[in-house]
Amino acid sequence: MSRLAQEILHSTFGFDQFRDSQEAIINQLIEGGDVMVLMPTGGGKSLCYQIPAIARNGVGIVISPLIALMQNQVHALQQVGVRAAFLNSSLDYQETQAIERQLFNAELDLLYIAPERLMNPRMLNMMSRLNIALFAIDEAHCVSQWGHDFRPEYHKLTILHERFPDIPRIALTATADQTTRSEIISQLGLEKAQIFVSGFDRPNITYRINQYQNQRDQLLKFLHREHKGDSGIVYCLSRKKVETIADWLSSKGFNALPYHARLPGTVREQNQTRFLNEENIIIVATIAFGMGIDKPDVRFVAHLDLPKSIEAYYQETGRAGRDGLPANAWMSYGLQNVVTLRQMLDSSDAGESQKRIERYKLDTMLGLCEITSCRRQTLLSYFDDKLEKPCGNCDNCLEPVKTWDASIAVQKLISCIYRTGQRFGAGYIIDILLGKENRRIQQLGHHKLTTYGIGGELNANQWRSVLRQLVARGLLDVDIEYGTFRLTEECRPILKGQQQLLLRQDKKPIKSGPTRRKQITFSTQKQEALWHALRKCRREIAEKQNVPPYIIFPDTTLIEMVDHLPQTLEQLSHVSGVGTVKLERYGDAFLEVLNHHEYN
Ligand code: ADP
Ligand code: ZN
Repeated sequence: MSRLAQEILHSTFGFDQFRDSQEAIINQLIEGGDVMVLMPTGGGKSLCYQIPAIARNGVGIVISPLIALMQNQVHALQQVGVRAAFLNSSLDYQETQAIERQLFNAELDLLYIAPERLMNPRMLNMMSRLNIALFAIDEAHCVSQWGHDFRPEYHKLTILHERFPDIPRIALTATADQTTRSEIISQLGLEKAQIFVSGFDRPNITYRINQYQNQRDQLLKFLHREHKGDSGIVYCLSRKKVETIADWLSSKGFNALPYHARLPGTVREQNQTRFLNEENIIIVATIAFGMGIDKPDVRFVAHLDLPKSIEAYYQETGRAGRDGLPANAWMSYGLQNVVTLRQMLDSSDAGESQKRIERYKLDTMLGLCEITSCRRQTLLSYFDDKLEKPCGNCDNCLEPVKTWDASIAVQKLISCIYRTGQRFGAGYIIDILLGKENRRIQQLGHHKLTTYGIGGELNANQWRSVLRQLVARGLLDVDIEYGTFRLTEECRPILKGQQQLLLRQDKKPIKSGPTRRKQITFSTQKQEALWHALRKCRREIAEKQNVPPYIIFPDTTLIEMVDHLPQTLEQLSHVSGVGTVKLERYGDAFLEVLNHHEYN
């Protein structure tokens, strides 16, 4: 192993050991080879190119799709004393000039740049006159059309290996199924690259998926019980819902801010900055929010609508708990979601084959919602990653799902749909099953049907759940325009009584008592008090520099301080995340807290 790499890990970043494949990846790059890295969020991808860029001669060029992402990384690097900069549209002419001068004077270890900027002929020209350590292509799945973050400008990155054949390249991504993987390799000409695939598991995330009855109520309970004072993201499908939910959460006393593409740029930026810089902001957002947000202490991601695919779900929920501490991925969805998504899909401009892909992806996502076995096993198998045993940290593992034999109920439901001519929506069908006396039923003569009033064993909510599960399993088709149901071929064996059907029994909302552990816990009140004092110290330093607190030290570093109670600079230097430069800059301030706080 390159001693140099070890030394940089230790003294610059303050870490003891490389994780999993980091060491092998770094070696390969230092020796000039190409690499492709598939590693989950929070796995430690950045070090894989940062250390070789520092160790090798010349500047490392990092291609990154988003300004926020670049800024964040550059701030973090500057904190540990690495000479890093970015080139993007947020800089004015003079700032740009200054950075270009630094480049030519070999004063930078790392330069972050957007793909379209790099592909500009003038920039490529400049690159050919520089001493370049490596090219790192971050968020490499953006090159794939199959994936969900396709960016046309990533396509042009092919020319990198044509123009700079001798410079090592590393492509990195957190989301990639087999198809995306092969597309990255062929698009970027990485056929000779050594491929490193880490497990995709995020064991610190607890996955939970609920069907909603009263969604707001569920969300409120979840936040009160498990996430007081935490940072988190709430995803909604529409801009309107984002605004309504953000207002409503604010009225309930949370610091909730909206984020969607139609908000004025300044507001969006302001909300994002507050989310990054403060410690208890809930951002309510459409999926426009998130890529490039590498805030490590997001404690929960809540979905109030169904994501479009498992890939999207995994990436969105993956924004929780990057620091490795316990975090929640929580979702609440209903039949209406499925209908809306299918509607959006069918009315989009995409070609037929693209639509088919997307329909398939949505169905797979629904399948994940409806399964009664371990969610993590299903999730990971989607990424060809195998988990031998159930995880013990998802809702299905924690509170095993009850199933019930729904064969008879389903026969009643299906025949009711059939007898009313497959022309009605959920509400009406259920009214008939429950024998409701409403005018429309009377007018249409449906009170005379044999299925009228035969469904009293379930209430309306339970019938809705049955409907939703039948749609998810492909027994019913929904007419997207009118929300009406049609039977599919799959119904036949059930109608004939040839097949038993076990459905999920929807859980009753839990009524009382804290049922889950708090996210971050200490065993004594004194420890808790010290934790808050250390956070306060961190916040003050961060505010002075106008950077997010976690850039000063992540929570994991503060927790280690609480556990080990270092009393000297030397002892403090052994805490993970405290490198030479940070020790020098902040050591005294934190020791002051550690020495004087009354925790003993
Ligand atoms: P990714 O880009 O893969 O999502 P990051 O590079 O942001 O992940 O790393 C996630 C966190 O893990 C960061 O806080 C980083 O400092 C930390 N980390 C990375 N490598 C190590 C290591 N070898 N030892 C300790 N912490 C590490
Ligand atoms: Zn599980």
